[in-house]
Amino acid sequence: MESHIGQLAINSLFPRFCLGCHTEGTLWCLTCSTTWWPAPVRFGCPFCGKGSMSFVCSDCRSESFLDGLSVFAHYGNPVVREAIHQWKYICDKTVNDVLFRWIIRAAPALQPPFSNFVFAPVPLHRFKTRSRGFDQAGVLADWCGQIYNQPVYDLLVRTRQTSSQAQKSHEVRKLGELDGLFAINPNVTNTSDCHPEAEGRRISSLPEKVVLCDDVFTSGATMDSAARCLKENGVKSVWGLVIAKGNM
Ligand SMILES: [Zn+2]
Ligand SMILES: [Zn+2]
Repeated sequence: MESHIGQLAINSLFPRFCLGCHTEGTLWCLTCSTTWWPAPVRFGCPFCGKGSMSFVCSDCRSESFLDGLSVFAHYGNPVVREAIHQWKYICDKTVNDVLFRWIIRAAPALQPPFSNFVFAPVPLHRFKTRSRGFDQAGVLADWCGQIYNQPVYDLLVRTRQTSSQAQKSHEVRKLGELDGLFAINPNVTNTSDCHPEAEGRRISSLPEKVVLCDDVFTSGATMDSAARCLKENGVKSVWGLVIAKGNM
């Protein structure tokens, strides 16, 4: 109730403009919801762009852990970029509905190339989740779990905070600056009462196939670090699914 009133107050203070056509009144107008769709993302290796598939190419495979990536749209698309910006930095939860509908509609194209897998978010550091109020990668993983009818687990925890600049640099992946950025969540067996600080419970076994969810993939350094942690702990295949992919 409080949040509903809060949202009404925000709406009256900051009038909404459609993300697509900038018409005042709503964040996503009826016209845009029926006519707008982003240009398809060119398939290719998520790290170097080579090849015609979204699998990591043989050259990059020797120095990375992720197997491939599904991408909804290019981050250069102004509508997608603004939607993610409002969702992430302005904490606009109403943009949730818009993004969720995009992902539902794009689901067949984003389908990972295997079945019987587990979705897991690329986690933020818990201090950051707290200050932001919600974790967008976790929200995306929950949507994907519903859409594809697969389980969602918080398999990973982030061990330290990193500057967003560090994650954007395409060199950090090769330099290993993000080594050890993630650890297996000790509470992985039950996401409903997950306490990252707790030490007590250990997982019996990780799933064989994991799809990591995140909002944006830029250099891939962060997601690859998460994939590395999973593979070093026995996961065989790690795919990525993101809303947008930016340039390195
Ligand atoms: Zn519109
Ligand atoms: Zn490559």
